[in-house]
Amino acid sequence: MHIILEIYRDRGNAQYGGEAVSQLEHALQCAALAEQAGQSAELIAACLLHDFGHLVHRLGEGVTARGIDDRHEYRAIPILEKRFPTAVTAPIRLHVAAKRYLCAIDPSYWNALSPASKRSLELQGGIFSDAAAAQFIQQPYAPEAIQLRRWDDLAKIPNLPTPDLSHFTTVLQEAAIV
Ligand code: FE
Repeated sequence: MHIILEIYRDRGNAQYGGEAVSQLEHALQCAALAEQAGQSAELIAACLLHDFGHLVHRLGEGVTARGIDDRHEYRAIPILEKRFPTAVTAPIRLHVAAKRYLCAIDPSYWNALSPASKRSLELQGGIFSDAAAAQFIQQPYAPEAIQLRRWDDLAKIPNLPTPDLSHFTTVLQEAAIV
């Protein structure tokens, strides 16, 4: 747990891929939205940690702009699954697929995506086909991943005050396996 929080403190100031907030601001805003909605500790933790993979890849800055998919939804999992149950890791693993799904079922969702998110969507495989969308939604934790995704898209407001990282430490401990 300690090491995860330390990584956010050390590297959280990095810009969130072409958005007007830092990685840490984005994570805190996303977690705060889940908390305000009265969600479980597991889903709040998933929201806080959903982009952890962006902080642990070694591909350098501005990967999307360079046409690279950092596959951050998978990259975080080996580290996180040692500490957190599937209720935390599955929505994280599925949050990129949830974007591909939402674009497939709702064109207005695609319209509302930020330019950076539209750019990364293409690198991530683009909008799901009807068959892929139908398959996605049958998976366990697909609804949680969609919920996370909606907060993810909203968590990009510059200078929005949120609780800080220490506020969410108890939630992370509550959601953790050990
Ligand atoms: Fe995100």
